[in-house]
Amino acid sequence: IYELTASSVEENSAWHAAVLLIVDITERERAEQQRQEFTANVSHELKTPLTSIMGYAEIIAGGIAKPEDVAPFAGKIRTEAQRLLALIEDIIHLSRLDEGGETVAFEPVEMSALCDTVRDRLQSKAAGKGIALRIEGEPAAVSGQRRTLEQMIFNLTDNAINYNKPQGSVTLTTGTESGRPFVQVSDTGIGIAPADQQRVFERFYRVDKSHSKMTGGTGLGLSIVKHGAALHHAEVELKSALGEGTCITLRFSKE
Ligand code: ADP
Repeated sequence: IYELTASSVEENSAWHAAVLLIVDITERERAEQQRQEFTANVSHELKTPLTSIMGYAEIIAGGIAKPEDVAPFAGKIRTEAQRLLALIEDIIHLSRLDEGGETVAFEPVEMSALCDTVRDRLQSKAAGKGIALRIEGEPAAVSGQRRTLEQMIFNLTDNAINYNKPQGSVTLTTGTESGRPFVQVSDTGIGIAPADQQRVFERFYRVDKSHSKMTGGTGLGLSIVKHGAALHHAEVELKSALGEGTCITLRFSKE
């Protein structure tokens, strides 16, 4: 395709149009394939907790559960229902972002104050796992969608807690570098291998499926971060070392 463009565009503009058309069709086919894969994944991810809920409910409804098993089974139904709810909420967030998210106007958002809000929401979860949650740095003003930005920092911080080690720490840092506001979430956790570092931003990609299930993860957290960053013209930088920790930085454009 590129050879054709380079050699023939000048002499024959019909070639140019043909090349553009091929590129456009390839792009559309890729988008359609991604959409089909996403639909298949969503169906699978929704069916798994529902099948489990149905199983436990049938045992209880059929009167075959031992009396002492009824409460734990009901607990399992609640856990699976919570997973389903989290999944549906994340799917809705992602589809809103896919549509451009333009329905909500941008407003001035102070990122260190937003980090305080996220810390308040996750403080007890971190403390429960013996993980110290710290906030550092300077105020950083960004123009954006408050709700989306909060969701992005929440997802990063939640992951930093989930994939940490006992007695580990999570640090949220905000500031400005060369005039560009940034937010950084770093952890002392299990780290991500180089081969997985790009893939973790794909929908439903998890390095360790069983670990992610245990933490109640939906597999969509980092996709939401990626799409949210694109909406805000922000760059996402991931640095990670296995066994040492992960540091993800969102760099926004100059105001
Ligand atoms: P999940 O709901 O599974 O956490 P995410 O999209 O948020 O989904 O993350 C995708 C995968 O990336 C996770 O399942 C985990 O394997 C890996 N991951 C994300 N954040 C971290 C982190 N801070 N440290 C180590 N691994 C991480």
